[in-house]
Amino acid sequence: MTNSTHPASVVVVGSGQGGYQTAASLRENGYRGRVTLISAEDALPYERPPLSKAYLTGRADQAQLWLRPATYYVRQSIDLVGGTVTEIDRAARTVRLADGSSYEYGHLVLATGARPRTLDVPGAGLRGVHTLRTAQDATELRTALATARRAVVVGAGFIGLEFASVARSVAPEPGGSTARGSGRTAVRQAGRSTAREPGHSGCEVTVVEALDRPLARAVSAPTADHFTRLHRAEGTRFLFGQGVAALHGDGRGRVASVELTDGRRLPADLVLVGVGVTPRTELAAAAGLPVRGGITVDSRLLTGDPHISAIGDCAAFPQVRSGNLRRLESVQNAVGHARLVAERITGSTTRAYNELPWFWSDQFSTKLQITGVDDEGHDTEVVLGDENSEAFSVLLFRGADLLAVESVNRPADHLAARQLLARGIKVTPDDAAAPGFTLKGHLTHPAPGRRHHTPGAGRTVIPCRSSNADVTPSPDTSPPSNDPS
Ligand SMILES: Cc1cc2nc3c(=O)[nH]c(=O)nc-3n(C[C@H](O)[C@H](O)[C@H](O)COP(=O)(O)OP(=O)(O)OC[C@H]3O[C@@H](n4cnc5c(N)ncnc54)[C@H](O)[C@@H]3O)c2cc1C
Repeated sequence: MTNSTHPASVVVVGSGQGGYQTAASLRENGYRGRVTLISAEDALPYERPPLSKAYLTGRADQAQLWLRPATYYVRQSIDLVGGTVTEIDRAARTVRLADGSSYEYGHLVLATGARPRTLDVPGAGLRGVHTLRTAQDATELRTALATARRAVVVGAGFIGLEFASVARSVAPEPGGSTARGSGRTAVRQAGRSTAREPGHSGCEVTVVEALDRPLARAVSAPTADHFTRLHRAEGTRFLFGQGVAALHGDGRGRVASVELTDGRRLPADLVLVGVGVTPRTELAAAAGLPVRGGITVDSRLLTGDPHISAIGDCAAFPQVRSGNLRRLESVQNAVGHARLVAERITGSTTRAYNELPWFWSDQFSTKLQITGVDDEGHDTEVVLGDENSEAFSVLLFRGADLLAVESVNRPADHLAARQLLARGIKVTPDDAAAPGFTLKGHLTHPAPGRRHHTPGAGRTVIPCRSSNADVTPSPDTSPPSNDPS
């Protein structure tokens, strides 16, 4: 599909979840112009969630991460170009790559994602200190994990906790310390022995977190407390209210210990830094596009230039309910953005982006699912089920409005919550606290009006003194930022 109103070519910078989906959706929508997908990573477009889950344990290999096999891009006439875009020339409508090549665009989509924050302390560059964003990072981490004995995780966000859960579950190689350096073998062995043997404790893991609980900016207190208990029961040690002052080496350039702000030193042969991400906005900023906590876009995901869109982790967009500009970091967000932009480019929509956010995280055998965004700050929590059990949901309200629902091992609640929020079916704290209330039941029989009653057993109404104003589904939650991380 190309006509006078459709651009003759679309260039997408970044071939992660959002970039890939833009190209795929353009073709699905019948777009016949040139589609160029430019990636700084030397890999076929792949998905990142398994990097801190199945891939890290060795249960998945690299090919299983691919969103599509190589033949797909050939069949769909999607040009995959390897290289880093270093400049956007908005007047000439071209992008330039580091190797000097350039590509003209009718429309440009920035899907540049985010990069992990690092620690700004002495020793941060020692070997054995890792971040986790790319398949390359995960491969290195998987190798390191196969022989690690003592891991320190800095930051109790989703990345840190998912890593901790794998580290506690994967049996290290016998004689790990002597086998260090034989990475290839270690990876394969880790791949074969992913499941923890009964009674095996995995690698020793300490999580250091500046705040007083894990996932503090991403989830409510009952959910955070659940994950604290879960990890502790699996042998993870938490040190809350602590920062990192320095990392110390073994004299040969490898990390040996982590010095905390209170002066304590934790021995470590592996350090995972999971302190959030920074959106990759530099290209946009250099091109004079507005950037505020992300590449600023309007509700149609257009930047200040009508020929340039920005999507996914790098884009700060107006939230449907609050109108607040913010980024979200999730697969659903990147895919939803990409689909809307592809529809807009092919002329099938002019609508604003209004999809309901949702997100998941897997830790040990627990699945957390979140839907909605608590970006205004909730003032009441209603717990469905027993928050001290393995399965419950927390409904987050601001006044009489439901903002978000967190479900721990309650997938049916999650699905019902998504429908309720997407369809705008009203649920109040009183409705949710009523005996017999279920999200699914409320979908089919919404409560007729406001009721006042004493909350029944297993339904705790918690008015919150401090709000989660900076909360959003995000794979990583510290340190604070306007970003979800
Ligand atoms: C370990 C991990 C686990 C996760 N788990 C979950 C989960 O369980 N659930 C969930 O919903 N989300 C999860 N996420 C988040 C999710 O993967 C991201 O939100 C999603 O990948 C965002 O897609 P994106 O296209 O915006 O960015 P990305 O997928 O990061 O892709 C951006 C790409 O752009 C490239 N790029 C940047 N600048 C340039 C340039 N100048 N030139 C060329 N290329 C460039 C980058 O190299 C990168 O390949 C996880 C993320 C990580 C890292």
